[in-house]
Amino acid sequence: MKKAVVLLSGGLDSATALYLAKSEGFDVHTICFNYGQRHDRELNAAKEIADKAKVTEHRVVSINMNQWGGSSLTDKSMDIEHGDVNRTDIPVTYVPARNMVFLSLAASYAEAIGAQDIFIGVSEVDYSGYVDCRQEFIDAMEKTINLGTVMGAEKNQPIQIHAPFVNKTKSEEIAIGMQLGVDYGLTWSCYNGGKEPCGTCDSCLLRAKAFAEAGYEDPALKQ
Ligand code: ZN
Repeated sequence: MKKAVVLLSGGLDSATALYLAKSEGFDVHTICFNYGQRHDRELNAAKEIADKAKVTEHRVVSINMNQWGGSSLTDKSMDIEHGDVNRTDIPVTYVPARNMVFLSLAASYAEAIGAQDIFIGVSEVDYSGYVDCRQEFIDAMEKTINLGTVMGAEKNQPIQIHAPFVNKTKSEEIAIGMQLGVDYGLTWSCYNGGKEPCGTCDSCLLRAKAFAEAGYEDPALKQ
């Protein structure tokens, strides 16, 4: 079985990417990042999702990006702004260069275990204007990874980054995930790290909109 590394945050995009990788026959290894995010509750969600999906290995990597902050997710002195699904500016929840850091570490993990495939659940359709969720960025990272790894540069075993939802809406993702048996009740999207989702941040609003469009109730909200 071919090994794949799946970036798993505990949210619905990455959970769907995990199930998609499994459905394509990959031996799945998940990597999750404790980067100093205020919603570190998502780490528990990632663990539960990985366990339920029976992945081969689930790795949690700690990188304290809250040392320099620069985002309301990693700097507790900043407030999470009220959600707006129609916003056009870059919200303060944007974490500087997050996916570049995450994909670099995923590439290191992939090379160490001999995996040529990395899955990331980014979308440039229903996103918050995050520049590191675009196809252009993914393509450039794939090129960089293959220049900076022995697998890519010497062994002719190039690493491919799969971003299967980059052109899909979140509701399309949910429709795919429901077919694949994703337990969305285990996923966590809220940027605020409370016991229950706040229902007002960008991430909660995008999630609610996606479930409504897909025609499903969000199982995480069921009593
Ligand atoms: Zn929220």
